[in-house]
Amino acid sequence: MLGLNKLMKILAIKESQARLLLMHHRWNVERVFDALDRKGKERLFTESGLTYVKDDLIGFNLNQLPLQCEGDRFSFLCNVCFEEVDAKEVTGMECGHYFCNCCWTEHFITSIDNGYARRIRCMAIQCSYICDYQTVCLLVSARNPLITARFERLLMESFIDDNDRACWCPSNPPCGRAILLGSQCDPFCEVECMCGTQFCFNCLSDAHSPCTCRILGMWVKRCEVEKQNIVWIDANTKVCPGCGNAVLKAGGCNHMTCRCGQTFCWLCGGPTGKSHFMRDHSCNRFTTEQKKPRKDTLQKPTRQDFSRYIHYCNRYRSHTDSLEKETLRQQSLQTSSLFLSIHPTDRPNSDKNWVLTGFEKLLLSRRVLTYTYPFAFYMFGDELPGNDMKNKGSRQDLFEDQQQQLECCVEKLAMELEKFFDQITPGEVAEVRFRVVSLSRLLDNCCRNMYECIQEELLPYLGPTENIAQYKASGPDKAKEINCVARFQSNNMH
Ligand SMILES: [Zn+2]
Ligand SMILES: [Zn+2]
Ligand SMILES: [Zn+2]
Ligand SMILES: [Zn+2]
Ligand SMILES: [Zn+2]
Ligand SMILES: [Zn+2]
Ligand SMILES: [Zn+2]
Repeated sequence: MLGLNKLMKILAIKESQARLLLMHHRWNVERVFDALDRKGKERLFTESGLTYVKDDLIGFNLNQLPLQCEGDRFSFLCNVCFEEVDAKEVTGMECGHYFCNCCWTEHFITSIDNGYARRIRCMAIQCSYICDYQTVCLLVSARNPLITARFERLLMESFIDDNDRACWCPSNPPCGRAILLGSQCDPFCEVECMCGTQFCFNCLSDAHSPCTCRILGMWVKRCEVEKQNIVWIDANTKVCPGCGNAVLKAGGCNHMTCRCGQTFCWLCGGPTGKSHFMRDHSCNRFTTEQKKPRKDTLQKPTRQDFSRYIHYCNRYRSHTDSLEKETLRQQSLQTSSLFLSIHPTDRPNSDKNWVLTGFEKLLLSRRVLTYTYPFAFYMFGDELPGNDMKNKGSRQDLFEDQQQQLECCVEKLAMELEKFFDQITPGEVAEVRFRVVSLSRLLDNCCRNMYECIQEELLPYLGPTENIAQYKASGPDKAKEINCVARFQSNNMH
């Protein structure tokens, strides 16, 4: 699968050599063949740390060892430790350099301790040969199998780090698993690690389709900047009870006059008369039934682009918040006997399944809906570089119709499922079940249409590099179906 076999056959080399070639070319077979074409075999080999051996010279053995013969005992002088050792305690690399096993082992262990695994060089001065995997394993495991394990781990890490089609699961705290993408998979895809984390393979953020990676990145930055603005506005302005505009307090006086002419009290936000000393207004006493005149969110803040941002941000945040709460709901349902207690007799397992399936559909659709807001903010705004869409109006209408249907269905399904947490009676179950199943089907269509609308009507205006993962009715692919390190290890790192 990784092209090892192909390379071994075509170049007539050993697995360890094929592995080195692949490593040197970031695990991309095409690049190896490309380099072979351009540079020829000899340069390709030496640049990758392999010794180029002319075909007729392949196969050399201990007979070529520079041995000294004393009586009937063959001995060898190691050029590192300057000790004379027995011939069977000597190992040679393909570069033709021989040293005693003891020195090699020390050399390997030091390299591994220092974090080198991928390219452990020969000990001979100025020799650039990279020691092969099998020899390192053989010698090191004779001394300490734990270090061999570390060596394999380091090799694995370098494999993942160097490979465009492999990545570490971005879960926090890290679960330590790596995902290897099958050769048929589009790199614009979303995967679910065995730890449950669903993420975008391309940018390693949480799964975010149908929003593109670039737009998501800009959105996250924007939210970071605006968060400070919102905090500042919250702390330094109050909403005028007359017109809803944010009013900035300049001096120390708490008797405010808005541009619209409305006067109000800075302390409580309530309207007052014109009198400067607020004779007609007092709010110093705390009362429980005190009405809260200040609105929680700003109605009409000052800047036009800011209010546009707030519109999208509020919806994005609300849905994110719902998604979190609904995820917790689903988890509590999975572990509780809540449903069984309502409806204990009638095939409990199959009955519980449709609730869980309904929840899965809800979570997926809620996520899709959430990310349509940042997408729309940039798609139909003026801030995205390279966005050359003309006639925004009609396309925006189409998009927003889809979004509206999606939102409507999501909320309906959420409402039905919420019934499981308080008010459902056994008599209602069949009815609710019917609605959940049909809403789920409807949502599947809504999501599909949403993706189609984005992929076909809108993304082409953002250029060829702007891509999203395909819609999958059952959510991101589970990693074990794609490939994971455990499997890679047993297949290729015997
Ligand atoms: Zn030695
Ligand atoms: Zn050497
Ligand atoms: Zn994971
Ligand atoms: Zn992404
Ligand atoms: Zn006003
Ligand atoms: Zn004053
Ligand atoms: Zn007041």
